[in-house]
Amino acid sequence: MHKNITCIACPRGCLLTVSGEAEDLIISGNECRKGIEYGRQEILEPLRMLTTTVRTTHPVYTRLPVRLSREVPLEQIPEFMKVINQVCVSRTCIPGDVMAVNLLESEVDLIATGELYYEKG
Ligand code: SF4
Repeated sequence: MHKNITCIACPRGCLLTVSGEAEDLIISGNECRKGIEYGRQEILEPLRMLTTTVRTTHPVYTRLPVRLSREVPLEQIPEFMKVINQVCVSRTCIPGDVMAVNLLESEVDLIATGELYYEKG
């Protein structure tokens, strides 16, 4: 295997070259040790932070922006989206509020990144 990837562990954005096989990856182009960790992770089990929106019952603001509480394996994103698409918010919330817990029993929560306000009564 021979692959070029950009390290996104810091703003410098080193261009990493990854070669070799799973147990014996050779990574070059990194300016620091974090690049080795990033390159291995990206090749062996890429992680992504999922940000999206969920439905609401609000008459005006029908979608609420949300994110997961941590990065998850890239290949599991479709499964997370299936669960997230079932969520419908019907209460006031502010950024940081937990909207759903332990998605897919992975101890990953769904966090609001926007606010929504329902009049009382
Ligand atoms: S290898 Fe190190 S210096 Fe280069 S982008 Fe990654 S974290 Fe930044």
